Amino acid sequence: MDYNRLAGLLFPEITKTPEDYEAMYPPRDLPEGAMVTRLGPSPTGFIHLGNLYGAFVDERLAHQSGGVFYLRIEDTDDKRYVEGAVETVINSLKFFGIQFDEGATMDGDIGDYGDYTQSHRGPIYQCFAKKLVSEGKAYPCFLTEDEIAAIREKQEAEQINPGIYGEYAACRDWTLEQVEEALAAGKPYVIRLRSDGKPAEKVVGDDGIEKEVVRRVKVKDAIRGTLSFPENYMDTVILKTTGIPTYHFAHVVDDHLMRTTHVVRGAEWLSSLPIHVELFEKLGWEMPVYCHTAQLMKIGEDGNKRKLSKRKDPELSLDYYRDQGYHPAAVREYLLTILNSNFEEWRAANPDAPIDDFQFTTKKMSNSGALFDLNKLNDVSKDVLLRIPAADLYEFLRDWAAEFAPEYNYMFEDRDYMLKILDLGRQDRKPRKDLVYARQIIGFIGYFWDELYKVEDPIPAEVSEEDRVQILEKYLATYDHSDDQSQWFDKIRAIAVDLGYAAKPKDYKKNPDDYKGHVGHVSTVIRIALMGRAQSPDVWTIQQIMGEEKTRARIQGAI
Ligand code: GLU
Repeated sequence: MDYNRLAGLLFPEITKTPEDYEAMYPPRDLPEGAMVTRLGPSPTGFIHLGNLYGAFVDERLAHQSGGVFYLRIEDTDDKRYVEGAVETVINSLKFFGIQFDEGATMDGDIGDYGDYTQSHRGPIYQCFAKKLVSEGKAYPCFLTEDEIAAIREKQEAEQINPGIYGEYAACRDWTLEQVEEALAAGKPYVIRLRSDGKPAEKVVGDDGIEKEVVRRVKVKDAIRGTLSFPENYMDTVILKTTGIPTYHFAHVVDDHLMRTTHVVRGAEWLSSLPIHVELFEKLGWEMPVYCHTAQLMKIGEDGNKRKLSKRKDPELSLDYYRDQGYHPAAVREYLLTILNSNFEEWRAANPDAPIDDFQFTTKKMSNSGALFDLNKLNDVSKDVLLRIPAADLYEFLRDWAAEFAPEYNYMFEDRDYMLKILDLGRQDRKPRKDLVYARQIIGFIGYFWDELYKVEDPIPAEVSEEDRVQILEKYLATYDHSDDQSQWFDKIRAIAVDLGYAAKPKDYKKNPDDYKGHVGHVSTVIRIALMGRAQSPDVWTIQQIMGEEKTRARIQGAI
């Protein structure tokens, strides 16, 4: 077979040579050890936590080493394409602090290794497919879907591994004439790899015992160590009937020409790694270092670990975190705690250090499934928000409200008021950790605005309705906004004693029959009148922030 003629026949319009592309995309001029990483999302409109998780690994590896991190849009699967999805990907990642140095942007490509959108790279893939055909390493296959289904049926009936390989690869050894005839008849075809691999074989050893011989390939994975797989023996499709490449072929060509040094991707690609090994080998290229990240897991309803699912777990979508108003720094910090097992230890030793000071490494990554836990995220978020100055938090919340909850825009009109509220209890030696994410914060501080004030908790059982009104009346009558904290509390104690409540909780506990309740019950009545809740930060401070007028109005309203 004259493979060169075959290649010319199949790709008459491809005039550039592999050497042309090698020259167009020369090895990058980077310092020793600099890593080139990429994120290759498919524009399905759904960008999930796994994408972000992987993106952090990419970003850290590149930026810690003085390398390059780029964005490539993997849109070869037109069935999955969703309008506007590229914008979603770029915006979501940007929101979470993922900065690309190169690649696709909303205003076109940046960088010398593009085009960075796979659907624009057709001639490049075809050029390398042509090269493989011309070397007898790939071939056109005219099998129809029905014929493939029939082969599979036969294989299943005979309990043979299904797929197009060896004797089942019917077009593997077609003559040039056969191909010409099929082309002339306008038959659609794909280009398949002509694999050199072999399926497991049964051989009888010298000892007369039958053994299964499996040929294996070894790959070093930066997260998982050395992996060993049965080699690929499938004549995998590399170009579809449309001339568009499959993922396998596209990523190999792109990662070579874009000079990627580290491919970070999900564990779902492990099973096709042997195909990629064979493709790199056939193309004569060095493989990048693969880093297969762990699946994101959660503890399911039944208490067992399971994969996060798009259908069941809204928290898999990045939109969830934006809509709830998680601060990007909190999400970033949390992801690092599940990405690197030593991160929390580092954080405890360096509470105020910028997160990028942490030396991230693939060696400390779990390969058995990263456990995702919203409660843990919330705990991390509390600590992270504590480190964010109120002025920055104000801006973050204001912008969040403008986009996701404009009904709360009015809360940001009086900036000073909001700043005091956000700092309430945060400056103490043991600061309060009440703030978690925007939606929760709005709920938590809502009582500072009359529009959101509502009574949520019942008054303590120790206090009768008559006493409740009396407490509030006496409170209002003696209220002096200029009292300091201890003068203010002395008055509450006096009201308590006056109405038959113990001045100290421990007196009440000792002799419960001597009192109706204690001073805590009295102040809870005041708290509920002011805030609508039995629990809140320090009441005196809240009154100082609310101002005299609002304080008096709330008490009066409750009477
Ligand atoms: N386009 C692939 C995906 O969406 C990317 C895999 C890779 O990073 O190589 O999962």
